Amino acid sequence: MIFENRAVKASNGVEIPQLGFGVYKITKEREFEMAISEAIRIGYRHFDTAKIYGNEQALGREIQKSGLPREDFFITSKVWNTDLGFEATRKAFAQTCKKLMVEYLDMYLIHFAAPNYLEAWRAMEELYSEGSIKVIGVANFEIQHLEHLMKHAKIPPMINQIETHPEFAQNDLHHYLHEHQILHEAWGPLGQGNRALLEHPLLKKMADQHHKTVAQVILRWHLERGIIVIPKSSSSKRMKENSEIFDFELTSDDMEQIKQLNIGKRYSINPTGYIIHPIYNKLMKIFMK
Ligand code: NAD
Repeated sequence: MIFENRAVKASNGVEIPQLGFGVYKITKEREFEMAISEAIRIGYRHFDTAKIYGNEQALGREIQKSGLPREDFFITSKVWNTDLGFEATRKAFAQTCKKLMVEYLDMYLIHFAAPNYLEAWRAMEELYSEGSIKVIGVANFEIQHLEHLMKHAKIPPMINQIETHPEFAQNDLHHYLHEHQILHEAWGPLGQGNRALLEHPLLKKMADQHHKTVAQVILRWHLERGIIVIPKSSSSKRMKENSEIFDFELTSDDMEQIKQLNIGKRYSINPTGYIIHPIYNKLMKIFMK
């Protein structure tokens, strides 16, 4: 069984399935195994992990267990703040591949614009040129970080994975990314399951009109904006629900109404400024739990 997906092209022509599956905070071993095997069964092939999530190995195991060819999958991981640097990033990449039991990554991202990200980028450019990474990009980069990176990069970033949901639409950054042929990928696409968002009366009414759920309307709103989404769920019902978003469209009036929900409200930390704080790593560890 495989659901209909849609591909968006990175600036180098590589196709990325627009709907993926995030694995952050699925920590219990049994829950993880069940979630990933079920996601694969339902038809998800694009998986988003990171070294800091601590589940690269478990994801690699489930992918192996599926018996499907490696090329059927689109696998993303991210280099953590403490591994930024030329040698350190190359080493972190090798460890990530080993844990995932793969020879190459479809996508590798710098997790945050933490110190030494320019050196890390050099390593990523090299790994990309060697064919070990198909798409290179960043996460949680603001415009000033992207400007700085592009000033020094040989290869510009192809994607930026950032918190995005109706209450935090990221309009300015979205526009900037579009102008620079950098893809926009949403983390927390469902507002991290925030009930106020998932029970919003306006979204509920819209969902009823389309015979869809609020989650499906939100995911469809991302798709209409050309954004890649990686919702997370451990429930089979929700995984299936989240995949049924390619058979309806939102009207321009729907899009306009959802636009009004943008109140610039992050549900998570603001990456700017926070990163350069001396205790950021300590705080990050607490936050990432
Ligand atoms: P999300 O927006 O995907 O929300 C997940 C929550 O929504 C879960 O609690 C889940 O139970 C609930 N949910 C899922 N489907 C639902 C449905 N149909 N109806 C109702 N509730 C539903 O938030 P997320 O997990 O934080 O983000 C998704 C992925 O993005 C992560 O798993 C991770 O891979 C990635 N991520 C990246 C960063 C980063 O810094 N780059 C940060 C956070 C997350």
